[in-house]
Amino acid sequence: MMYISTRNSKLKVSAAKAIAQGLAPDGGLFVPETIPGVSGERLKELCAMDYRARAVAIMEPYLEDFSREELITYVTAAYGENFDDRQIAPVKFLSDDTGVLELYHGPTCAFKDMALQILPYLLTASLKKCGEERQVCILVATSGDTGKAALEGFADVPRTKIVVFYPQDGVSDVQKLQMTSQAGKNVFVSAVSGNFDDAQTGVKSIFGNEEFARKLTERGWFLSSANSINWGRLLPQIVYYFSAYCEAVNARKIKLGDKMNFVVPTGNFGDILAGWYAKQMGLPVKKLICASNANNVLTDFIRTGAYNKNRPFYTTTSPSMDILVSSNLERLLYCLSGDDKLVASYMEQLKTNGSYIVTEPLRQAVAKDFYAGCCDDGRTFESIRKMFEGKRYLMDTHTGVAWTVLEEYRIDTGDTTPTVVLSTASPFKFCDSVLRALGEETDAPGTVLLERLTEKTDVAAPAPLAALKAKTVRFDTCVEKQNMIGVVDDFVK
Ligand SMILES: *Cc1c(COP(=O)(O)O)cnc(C)c1O
Repeated sequence: MMYISTRNSKLKVSAAKAIAQGLAPDGGLFVPETIPGVSGERLKELCAMDYRARAVAIMEPYLEDFSREELITYVTAAYGENFDDRQIAPVKFLSDDTGVLELYHGPTCAFKDMALQILPYLLTASLKKCGEERQVCILVATSGDTGKAALEGFADVPRTKIVVFYPQDGVSDVQKLQMTSQAGKNVFVSAVSGNFDDAQTGVKSIFGNEEFARKLTERGWFLSSANSINWGRLLPQIVYYFSAYCEAVNARKIKLGDKMNFVVPTGNFGDILAGWYAKQMGLPVKKLICASNANNVLTDFIRTGAYNKNRPFYTTTSPSMDILVSSNLERLLYCLSGDDKLVASYMEQLKTNGSYIVTEPLRQAVAKDFYAGCCDDGRTFESIRKMFEGKRYLMDTHTGVAWTVLEEYRIDTGDTTPTVVLSTASPFKFCDSVLRALGEETDAPGTVLLERLTEKTDVAAPAPLAALKAKTVRFDTCVEKQNMIGVVDDFVK
């Protein structure tokens, strides 16, 4: 199984190389050349397995240059006691036809853990297999969730360092404290004055600085990224679609072979693309429902075939979905068209004009697998309140967006297919917004609001968040954008 670039299908590399490199040298993303199938018989076997065994079974055919023993070691280390639910990714059925797949039981309480707990193992092994002798420094610009999940994943991993930059005023109290109190000898965290875009632009310019790269190489280091363009982050996410389906079969909500829908709160299109891969592998999926907040560029694209990022950017209460360029869409466009030249031209148009329109056959192919909807903060809050008051089920803002879009989908289409909603963060991670949705005041520091949400709902906060109150801040620097490179230079010695 080889991997090819979405912008040049003649460029072929092994799985280890694709993971070690992250981005293809031509700027494209790596995709597997073929998609392995999972038969009905195999699906039945998966139902009898636990999450770890399912993970090995799904990932193995994609990782030919890794042995099964290696995968078992990584999966066992990644999905264990660090999760506060033994099922790792449990499905809560709120009715016979609707379940919630809770992906936030990992150490940082957001779904990014599902991939970032295992990525350090895949990445360090890939570097070794590729004969890379330099050590790697992971550089992250974060709007909140990715930074903490990457810190937790890479903390004290031998031969690695990690530097995370977050926008000074762009993350919640809880998210900030999660990052600035991070333990580990190889980690560094700094605020950047400005917004997420400033942090992101700063990181990109460090990656593009060839002189700095040479300097680091002389010291025996190189820079790499942990964001969702890396195949090593996407692959582990395919697993939980299979796992959720098996849980629905085991709970007798569906029969083996029945179709199911998934609703995915979407930003960079990584999570939902993993669901599309699961469908291509043979998982009986009817529709993948793409849920967006007020930044609804994907809703428009899936409905019309026109991608246009020239529009106002909204800061919403579901910040991890505040995105106007969804990088992983490039993978879908390549897989559906099989045309690297076409994809390269779309991406060129996106860069120069901020927009492109796909061909009619491609638009139809997208519409066959995906439905799209969006909602504003007001309707998201309404869903959170209604679900809590009606079902005593507490959800975060990102999940609230997905829930709202599901209700709209059902009214719009009349589809009664059993459906699983992906829940991507603990409600406590966004406790200020969730409290407001429930009609409470939020004029207090984050750690106080955590307790207030427990008082209001009788739901306990996840242990890693409850423990924040007693943590000391290790990192309190804030740099200007142009000084970010100096921070990395000082730390990577
Ligand atoms: C990252 C994130 C998302 C969006 O996932 P993508 O893979 O970027 O589409 C949704 N919800 C939460 C809580 C997240 O952290």
